[in-house]
Formats: sequence, structure tokens, C-alpha cells
Amino acid sequence: MRKHPEIFSDAALRHIKTGGTKPPGEMTASELPPMAVSWSSTEHLPVGEWKEKAPKYVRGLSPCLTHCPVGNDVEGFVSKVRDNDIETAVKLLLAENPLPATCGRVCYHPCEDGCNRKELDGAVGIRAIERYLGDHPEFKGSDIWQQAKPSSGKKIAVIGSGPSGLACAWGLALLGHKVEVYEQKEKAGGLLRYGIPAYRLPKDVLDREIGRITDVGVKFFYSWKIGEDRIIKDMLAAFDAVFVAAGAVKTRQLGIQGENNNNVWSALDFLNTVANGIIPDIGARCVIIGGGNSAVDAARSARRLGAESTILYRRTCNEMPAHQAEIDDAIAEGVIISELAVPLEFILEDGTLRGVNCLRTRLGEPDSSGRRKPLPVPGSDFAIECESVINALGEMVSSEDLTSNLQLIRAMKTADAWGKSMHPSLFAGGDFTGGERTVAHAIGGGKRAAMAIDRFLLGTKNESLERYRVGGGPASLASYLRSGDSEVTAGGIRTIQFDDLNPAYFPARERAYLEKHLLESRDFEFSEVEPGMNQAQAIEEAERCFSCGRCTKCGLCQIFCPEGAVRKNNKNDLMIFDSHCKGCGICVEECPRCAIEFREES
Ligand SMILES: Cc1cc2nc3c(=O)[nH]c(=O)nc-3n(C[C@H](O)[C@H](O)[C@H](O)COP(=O)(O)OP(=O)(O)OC[C@H]3O[C@@H](n4cnc5c(N)ncnc54)[C@H](O)[C@@H]3O)c2cc1C
Repeated sequence: MRKHPEIFSDAALRHIKTGGTKPPGEMTASELPPMAVSWSSTEHLPVGEWKEKAPKYVRGLSPCLTHCPVGNDVEGFVSKVRDNDIETAVKLLLAENPLPATCGRVCYHPCEDGCNRKELDGAVGIRAIERYLGDHPEFKGSDIWQQAKPSSGKKIAVIGSGPSGLACAWGLALLGHKVEVYEQKEKAGGLLRYGIPAYRLPKDVLDREIGRITDVGVKFFYSWKIGEDRIIKDMLAAFDAVFVAAGAVKTRQLGIQGENNNNVWSALDFLNTVANGIIPDIGARCVIIGGGNSAVDAARSARRLGAESTILYRRTCNEMPAHQAEIDDAIAEGVIISELAVPLEFILEDGTLRGVNCLRTRLGEPDSSGRRKPLPVPGSDFAIECESVINALGEMVSSEDLTSNLQLIRAMKTADAWGKSMHPSLFAGGDFTGGERTVAHAIGGGKRAAMAIDRFLLGTKNESLERYRVGGGPASLASYLRSGDSEVTAGGIRTIQFDDLNPAYFPARERAYLEKHLLESRDFEFSEVEPGMNQAQAIEEAERCFSCGRCTKCGLCQIFCPEGAVRKNNKNDLMIFDSHCKGCGICVEECPRCAIEFREES
């Protein structure tokens, strides 16, 4: 009775393949593929009673969601961009992340590492789409304010205004609490302002994001060093809760002779000086010791100040902890990487730095970090001449700077994933508490702490917060604000893998790569390296998203159903199967996004 559709019209194919917004019910006759028709009613055919298994629409999790440490509704905002509904996309993003323009520039995009599209032709450029939304000039904190809870009358102090402190302050303000942020520096942002250089994150972008946080009522107090100007014990007495997000800002010592010379900088002091608009005198040749983010940013900044810039690293480029894209950009800008080398001592003449004596290394067996251990090669000494050295061995936490109270130090150091410490009203998060040191992890930790603090203040601290985790991973502030499960936080949802999808419906389409303005082609030293997308590019890139695990109402199930048993429920706009479904499973097979499951009939 039903003719199986063999030929799709071009328009129908385009719609199916791009996951477009036009369901077959809204297509014109010429756009529709051939459909089964019956000359008379088929209501009397009880085929549905025979089936052993029945299809059911289910929500699966896109891996981008579970990979995002912030808890962004990645698939949600990308699909809204695809629909050209920019306003909803921005609101979805801001509901989880107060720093989208920042993350859109400097996040190491674990969402893209998880993206199923990378198995086909390259992950969706999620970070660039996020940046496009974050840069959208029309949206302010007040746009999200209507979701905020009424005032609770509770007051919380946040120590440190890096991404963790900012995210916690934002979350607490939306939850109806008064928040005061205490920052030792003159401006807010932490390492976003004083660590990450302006060529990756322009400071006016950061100012705009912080403006959004002051928009929702958060108060900032600058040049307040907790531990000197005020002590944590007093703060615990004066506030209903205290969140410590003081970061890891103490430089690891090199432990070699001459380290205290004026021309031996710590990476953070050097980057901080440059961020303050002061040009340090580093001479014509600068050696940077280390292989992490700080080393690469210091080396690229030194290049921009006109110096020949050499990174000295004890392993090879492959083992460098810095992000690969940053290493590639540094090399493209002319930074030299001297692999398999360690510094032995500084060469000083009458107190003036002339160079570094070094030793070659070779790689041995893997150590506790899983990376191959660098072993000294006897007799391989060599010298590098330079006028300055930057120590970028890495940063450590210094809780002792905050308080000498050992009990409080212990409490802060043992804070759990929700920031809860052994002291009931003391919470901690971000780099200060360890774990992965990235902006996204710091924001995620700040958000979780905001939820835990809210629970503590409302006296419901024993109620589990785990239900607000997305697929058991990052937490959703938006779900918490609604005090309910969302589609993605409900337990037991499966994360969709590439093999679960039906890739035949997604034609190969190259990812949009944006040309970078590297050092040789830029006209101002610290101008931004990476350009952003315009709206058309953002929509085009968003169209590459599979929307893994979510029904986009593409209508393929309806088209292929031999019984015509699939239709749209007009009440909630969802697709449903009626009693004529005989459980053949074609819809399950054909669904491009794995949004239909075949379940045993009970
Ligand atoms: C050079 C560099 C580049 C990086 N690049 C990237 C990147 O590209 N992408 C990425 O994801 N991550 C990057 N990181 C890591 C990232 O910046 C950190 O993981 C993140 O900033 C940690 O956030 P936080 O809020 O915990 O701490 P921080 O950003 O360090 O903020 C802590 C704040 O607390 C303040 N504070 C400290 N002590 C006190 C006190 N006693 N009283 C008052 N205030 C105090 C500090 O002044 C600071 O403002 C980089 C790190 C460095 C060093």
C-alpha cells in the first residue's frame, strides 16, 4: 500500500541533511519526497497489537555537553545559532557561563575534542561560535536577570576575582544573594587580565564580561589583600559564607645560582608588567625556562617586545604541557624551542646577566606523570647567551598568604568538587583547590560552589546536588535555578557516540578555519591574533552540528514509516508513534541522530 520513498526532492534532501527547521508537514508538495497514501482509512488494521518492540523518542547526550567543564548547553546554543535564533542562543549560554567571550577565545575547547563530527570531517568550531555569541553587543546581564531568584538577604564574600570567583559571584547573584568580591589587584579578572596576554584576550572584552557581572549587582572591592587588609576569620564572622578563589600565583623556584638577579623574571611578574602597559627591559635575547602556558605566553610576549625568544625545555615539544595550538603559533611567530635541555647556572659578569649554562637531556622511562623522564647527558654542557631569563616553571598555591590558621588552611585544601570544606561556611574552588588548571574548570568549580553555598544558606545542605550534573559530569546552574531536572541532567541518559549516528545523512562539509594574524602580518604587537566569525559564518558552522541525541523533527521517521504511524503531537510539537506502529524499527535505523530507541513491549 505504501510506496517506499526512493527519490527525495533536492529541497527535502537539503532539509534532512542539514537538520533544518522545516518539518515535512510544513513542506510544499514539490519539496516532499514520495509518501505512502491509502485510498481508504487504515484505522481498522490492528497492526500495532502485533509488535514485540516499540520505538520511543529519547533524549541522548551530545558528547560536547559532557566534555564541557563549565556545563554549557553546547548543543542547545549551537542549534539555536543554526536556526538563526541568536537571542535564545545567547541566553542559553549566559544561563551557564558569565564569560562566553573569554571562553570563546581562550578555552582549550574540550567540547570540540568530544564532538562526534571530528570522526567525519573535523569537529564543529564550537569555540568560535561561542565567541561570536559572547561578542554580541546587544546582550547584557539584565537579559538573564529575569531568571534570577528574589533577594535572600544573605551576604557572601568571594576572595579573588579570577574566572572561578567571577563565576561563583555571578551564580550567587542569580540565586538572590548579595555578593562582595575582594581582589588584591587594581582590577578584576585574575590570570585572565594579568596572565593571558592581550593578543589572545583583549582586555576590553574582559571588561565587558565583568560589566555584565556588576550589572547583576555583584560589588567589587579592589586592592584588598586578604591576609593583610582583612583576615578570613573576621570574614567568616561578617558574612554568611566565604568562597576562596585565590588561584595559584606563586612561582616555583629554579633553585639555581643567580636566580635573584634583576634580569631573571618570574613569568607571572613579567606578564603582569606587560599587562599593566609597562615595557620591561629584556634586551635583545630572552631565554624562557619551562614548557607550560606561562612559558609559551611569556615567549610570545618577549617576541612582541622585539627580543629573540628561546624556550628551554627539558623534554621534547611533544611532552610540553602547553596547548599544541599555542606551541604552533609560538613557532610560527619565530619563537625558538630548545628541546631536551635544562639550565645549570646563570652566567653573571659583575652582576650583569650574560647567559645560561645548560645541559642536554635524553628521555628515559615514563615517570609518575606518565611522561618520559628527562635524564641528564653527562658532558653535554652548552651555553646560551642572553640578556634576560623568564622563569616559567609553573605556579603554586600559597594558602599561607591568606591565613596562618592551620585549621582553616587544612579546611580549604580539602574542599570537595562542590567547593565544600571542613568548615561549614567556608568554600573554595578554581586553581586554588587543584585539579585541572584551565579557565573552563575554574568557571565550572565556581558555579558548583555557588550551588553548594546556596544549599548551605537555605539549610538544605544534605539534599544531593548530584542531580544537577549533566550526564554525571559538569553541573547545570540553569537546572538548579529552575529547581528541577532538565532533559540533560536527568539520570541515566546515554551519551551518543559517532557509531550511534547515521552519518549517511550528513554530507561532508569542511570546518571553517579562520586565518590567524600572526606576528609577521600584524600591525600592532599585542593586537588580537585570532579573528572572530561573522553571523553568516557562525550559522554555517553551526549547520555542521549533528545535534547528537536530540530529535530536530527532521521528519525522516515520518517519511520512512511504512504504516504512516508517525506524526507530530500538536500540543508539545514532539513526534509521536500511534497505534499503527507494528515495530519494524525502520525509524530507529534511519534516525540520523540516535533520538529513537527500540524498547521491548511490556
Ligand atoms: C600565562 C597563563 C596563560 C594561561 N592560558 C590559559 C588559556 O589559554 N586557557 C585556559 O583555559 N587556561 C589558561 N591558563 C590557566 C587559567 O588562567 C587558570 O586556570 C584560571 O585563571 C584559574 O582561575 P582562578 O579563578 O582559580 O584563579 P586566578 O585566575 O589565578 O585568580 C585568582 C585571583 O585571586 C586574587 N588573589 C589571590 N590572593 C589573594 C588575596 N590574598 N586577597 C585577595 N585576592 C587574592 C588574585 O589576585 C587573582 O585575581 C593560563 C594560565 C597562565 C598562568
